[in-house]
Amino acid sequence: MTDGPNIAVLGAGVVGMTVAKLLQDENRKFNITIIADSFKENTTSAVAAGIFRPGTSFCGPTAEITKKWINNSWYYWQDILKSSEAPQAGLMSFSSYIFSKERYTVTRNHLIEDLVPIYRAVDKNELKICGEGWKYGSYFSTIKIGCERYLPWVERQFLDKGGKIITSTVESFTSLPEKYDLVFNCTGLGAKLLCNDHHLVPIRGQVIKVKAPWLKTAIYGDYDTYIIPGFDGIATLGGVRQYDSYNMKICKYDSAAILERCCEMLPALKKAEIVAHKVGLRPHRVPVRVEPETVNGVKVVHCYGHGGYGVTCAPGTAMDAVRMGLDLLKTNVKTKL
Ligand SMILES: Cc1cc2nc3c(=O)[nH]c(=O)nc-3n(C[C@H](O)[C@H](O)[C@H](O)COP(=O)(O)OP(=O)(O)OC[C@H]3O[C@@H](n4cnc5c(N)ncnc54)[C@H](O)[C@@H]3O)c2cc1C
Repeated sequence: MTDGPNIAVLGAGVVGMTVAKLLQDENRKFNITIIADSFKENTTSAVAAGIFRPGTSFCGPTAEITKKWINNSWYYWQDILKSSEAPQAGLMSFSSYIFSKERYTVTRNHLIEDLVPIYRAVDKNELKICGEGWKYGSYFSTIKIGCERYLPWVERQFLDKGGKIITSTVESFTSLPEKYDLVFNCTGLGAKLLCNDHHLVPIRGQVIKVKAPWLKTAIYGDYDTYIIPGFDGIATLGGVRQYDSYNMKICKYDSAAILERCCEMLPALKKAEIVAHKVGLRPHRVPVRVEPETVNGVKVVHCYGHGGYGVTCAPGTAMDAVRMGLDLLKTNVKTKL
């Protein structure tokens, strides 16, 4: 223990772990404890394909803040990607096609077109590279953040630097195991109960992990169909978006539909070995909640509700949350900082 402030981070998904990392980078005197009931592969974050691609509906409190979150996130991930730690941290760069038979607009993305190195319309030949009948398409460069690697990577560093971890379910901000000067609420969908937040809704997702080491490019099609390459030759096939569904069981009909749609785009997948089926509930909220609040005397900064884009945007939102937390701390514990 140092004589610095005691800080709790609730949640060990991509948001909580990134908040904890930024806090430690900010000041080594902070005594930081991560409290969560699930870690690493048991979080929603570990189910995600982890492609950096915010949906165009991704939404902070204003358009400016949304864009700032996305840009800051991109540069955070780029810093890790350019370091020697990139593979251990789960970062890789690749390119992606997005095709549509119906809508030109789905192939555009105003949130990243000016950010990623390449974002362009495809030519006629490219419309024929997978499946048939595509009318519209874009090609862009982006990155993947594999949370199956990123979460353990952050956890190792966090513990090495003196961070503490407690496995526990939090019932309320006032019943934490110790007294904390500041609490970050990064509980994803768990915030629904913790904050009685009716605006937070699960959007159920299901994916199939297959062995496809030959796949080097991501491909998106209509109806939420996607094929994303990954580490160790394991690709993610998706997907579904089921609003307000809490069903954590694998649905065989969803699996069949995902396989059919993906194999139609890329017939080579028919022979790919299936490694796993996974389900996750995206914590959807409009807008994503990043704000301070004092709850029964406890100083809390909320950072949750990232929906289908939490891996992409965790760092940008975490940076704002940490800044808000430091402002809160300064008002009361000036001498400790
Ligand atoms: C199929 C699928 C594909 C996806 N693909 C992508 C993608 O390609 N790109 C992208 O950017 N995003 C993607 N997402 C979205 C992304 O996974 C989420 O936005 C992100 O994981 C949210 O992170 P989080 O840290 O807020 O939540 P979580 O990962 O759910 O972590 C929440 C943490 O809080 C803890 N917790 C909750 N309540 C309590 C409590 N009461 N007490 C103690 N601990 C608690 C949990 O144990 C956990 O540790 C996808 C999601 C799914 C389901």
